Amino acid sequence: MIVDYHMHLRAPDEAIDHSVSAIERYVEVAGERGVDEIGFTEHVYYFEQTRSLWSEPSQVERCIYDIEEYVGAVVEAKRRGYPVKLGLEVDHLRDRADEMDEILQPYPWDYLVGSIHWIDGLGVDGEPSLVEAVGPEAAWARYYDWLVDAATHADVLAHPDLVKMYGPELDWDWDGLAESLVGTCLEVSSAGLHRPHGKLYPNAGLLSAAKENGIPITTASDAHVPQNVGRDLDRAIEHAKASGYESVTVFDQRDARQEPLG
Ligand SMILES: [Zn+2]
Ligand SMILES: [Zn+2]
Repeated sequence: MIVDYHMHLRAPDEAIDHSVSAIERYVEVAGERGVDEIGFTEHVYYFEQTRSLWSEPSQVERCIYDIEEYVGAVVEAKRRGYPVKLGLEVDHLRDRADEMDEILQPYPWDYLVGSIHWIDGLGVDGEPSLVEAVGPEAAWARYYDWLVDAATHADVLAHPDLVKMYGPELDWDWDGLAESLVGTCLEVSSAGLHRPHGKLYPNAGLLSAAKENGIPITTASDAHVPQNVGRDLDRAIEHAKASGYESVTVFDQRDARQEPLG
């Protein structure tokens, strides 16, 4: 089975479009690329219901859409029989994660994806850069400390080694990290192939350690437009198989089951 479990529901020009007709465009591309099931994971900071949580200007200014419309569109698409799942990319807020859980509690999520793009006002993959501000060693230590915390709130961790965006790749205690992440899933993502570093997420060290520790996976493109659904997913699947994975996680109302990978 092939799943693409991370994408942002947009119009072909990347404008926000939380409608059933927008979903149909994603479903069509998924069908053409042999993807069996797709899951939408809009960034949580787009939704006005979460406005009290944000302080980053880039998040505050986007925080204007109604979560009911997004949830309603995906639920209606499911009702019509489309192979879609309702997810959300929950940008982890370490001090306010319990408030976040409460705000999201009323909705029928199939799964929640945790991600870390910002730590204390510094960007993991944006400016001002965390790596530049504190150096790679300290940045990685902070990022992975946050990732372990995010794992206690999320069903899946998105682009788990995003911190490699800037600066050198460091040797790390991947096994120790993986042990701390048991209980969640790791996302194997092709999105990094289209960033300047050109690498899949996560690196083989972390992925093999995750496999050793029995951590399941999802696969993802992180498409921001319908035309990118399933993009390079074959490479993500190959990467997972090279680390010994033979199954992929399928979610339904936050219940996980394993299906054969690919
Ligand atoms: Zn992300
Ligand atoms: Zn994303």
